[in-house]
Amino acid sequence: MVLLQVMYTDLDFIAAFNIEPEVLQQFLFEVYRRYNNIPFHNFKHCFCVTQMMYGLIWLTDLKSKMDSIDLLIMLTSAVCHDLDHTGYNNAYQINARTELALRYNDISPLENHHCAVAFEILEKTESNIFRNVSMDQYKRIREGIIKCILATDMTRHNEILNKFKSILPAFDFNNRDHRDVLMMILIKVSDISNEARPMEVAEPWLDCLLQEFYNQSDVEKLEGLPVTPFMDRDKVTKPSSQTGFIRFVLLPLFIELANLFPCLEHHIIDPVRKALDYYTEMEKALEREKQNRAQSENAAKSKETTVGPQSPADSHTDAGHEASQPDAQSTAGQCLS
Ligand SMILES: [Zn+2]
Repeated sequence: MVLLQVMYTDLDFIAAFNIEPEVLQQFLFEVYRRYNNIPFHNFKHCFCVTQMMYGLIWLTDLKSKMDSIDLLIMLTSAVCHDLDHTGYNNAYQINARTELALRYNDISPLENHHCAVAFEILEKTESNIFRNVSMDQYKRIREGIIKCILATDMTRHNEILNKFKSILPAFDFNNRDHRDVLMMILIKVSDISNEARPMEVAEPWLDCLLQEFYNQSDVEKLEGLPVTPFMDRDKVTKPSSQTGFIRFVLLPLFIELANLFPCLEHHIIDPVRKALDYYTEMEKALEREKQNRAQSENAAKSKETTVGPQSPADSHTDAGHEASQPDAQSTAGQCLS
């Protein structure tokens, strides 16, 4: 929480918006309290996303290009973007007809809820970090935060990315609409930026995410609801969950942002490409392991049906095949342990 406080100070929000330190502390404490103790969408995730947003603001020198009110909107949206996440995604909320789905008529139930909880916290004077801004400024901040948090619904991914692509050739920082789309892109990038972090940080986060996914699909099976395919523990493996996601979601998004800010190439695209190579290798190794297992099962079956001793050459071939892949095999072994 202290580090989040430092980010507000460092970006000059304290002075610019007359935020009292004790109000900021109270706000951050309330935020901390309203994140749940679940495997992935917890306060640590909120911290990582906010830290990435903070990093992107500095790396792209946004302070010289946008108003500080826009930066305040982006950082606060990152802090609040998953408040009171239950660990079950929108598809579950809708299929299970939860209270949230009913309240928000199936329209981004979670994101609407995260946002509503944020403004619940801000309604209390003692935790309202915007209590000293003008009515007009508050209106703009509220509009901006709602826009940013609602943009984190992944079902809107293509819509937002396509809008960004269409304005990119003539991007103008003085154009309000352009800035709004960029803000949505920045929170989206921050939200799914784990793979841009070092592997020793990123991989445990993937384990947490899969744990939350598997919990959901287990409950969906128990309750007889449609099972979300990418959450099914019987269908998804660690590498298979990542390769498609990086290739078709992460990289296309990050590449567009780097088109506007080429300096980001080295910071966010290179590590994501490395992660893609890593999980592609792991996927291949798993596939080989699966094939080897199938081969030895078949061999065992034919042994049962064949009369007489098995040719020693066959077993040597299998052993040789396995031995020729020591690195990949051990990588898969390590990663799956
Ligand atoms: Zn998130």
